[in-house]
Amino acid sequence: MGDIPQRLGAVRADLAGQGLGALVVSQPDNRRYLTGFTGSAGVVLVSADRAMLLTDSRYYGQAEREAPDFSLERVGYRVFERLSEVLGELDLKRVGFEADAVTVSELERLRGLAPEVEWRATSGLVERHRAIKSEAEIGTIRCAAAIADAAMAHAAAVLRPGISELALAWEIEVFMREHGAEGLAFDTIVAAGENGALPHHHPSQRRIEAGEPVVVDIGARVDGYNSDLTRTFALGPVRDPEFETVYAIVAEANRTATRGIRAGLTGADADRLARDVIDAAGYGDFFGHGLGHGVGLQIHEGPRLSFLADEHPLGAGMVITIEPGIYLPGRFGVRIEDLVVVRDNGVEVLSAVEKQPAVVPA
Ligand code: ZN
Ligand code: ZN
Repeated sequence: MGDIPQRLGAVRADLAGQGLGALVVSQPDNRRYLTGFTGSAGVVLVSADRAMLLTDSRYYGQAEREAPDFSLERVGYRVFERLSEVLGELDLKRVGFEADAVTVSELERLRGLAPEVEWRATSGLVERHRAIKSEAEIGTIRCAAAIADAAMAHAAAVLRPGISELALAWEIEVFMREHGAEGLAFDTIVAAGENGALPHHHPSQRRIEAGEPVVVDIGARVDGYNSDLTRTFALGPVRDPEFETVYAIVAEANRTATRGIRAGLTGADADRLARDVIDAAGYGDFFGHGLGHGVGLQIHEGPRLSFLADEHPLGAGMVITIEPGIYLPGRFGVRIEDLVVVRDNGVEVLSAVEKQPAVVPA
């Protein structure tokens, strides 16, 4: 990972800007991002001239191999005790911690162990850097997106009347694992008919019948990085007469946002591009979630594309989803989701699988 020194430099610049002597990083994805260490336990300490990874004996060998830019502190199971000693040795007085990752009891322990330290809450410090991907990270996400694309094409091929939501989900999951995914980005969503109106429906034994739409939302994970993709299939001509109209509106909202999003727009601006299309068609009340989210080491990370989003502009190199949807309770839902990279003059679409309402012969 040639990116590590650059990431450390960025965090150190933040520390200097915020008057912090050091930052303690305990959020697992932030720990991995800064160090390269993929283990599930450990605390990172970054100061102007130190980069330390404190972990236990299960991970010594792995940490040495994966995090060569960091000095390894072997702490056994006394992570906080050793951390407080190190802070004393380095004479660090004002130290940031991750308010979104440290529990109240952990903070109380830290305060008890290092009473001379002024503990400062930080939020989103590493996450802000994580939101902008390097080309190497984008390459990995591209691989994860290609696996999801192939799995979606496979789903269209095996979709047939009588298959249950769970059986179709399993077909997709096996396919992704057999084609290079180390895991799933999230629990696969297969939502037939009225279940499609629930954006995060869990697949059930319910059988998919001819004449029903099916929302399929999937993602693969490769080297820690996720992909995210939704298509809405029609299993033969859909019985509900409103389906075609709704599908066309969601497709238009997806196209409009894809054409309009570029670096410099805010998350709220981006959301509005799609929402205006859906509002104008009279379905605004049925698009309850935001337009999209960042994707990386976490399936949902910054930035947020939402009417609730803050006004930070989107930056070139962010990887985001564009996923407008319309959900008609008790009837059906349509969502069309692509994964894209924000560029200076537009977006680069990573999701390549067919977007037509792939009418699978019933
Ligand atoms: Zn999704
Ligand atoms: Zn998504």
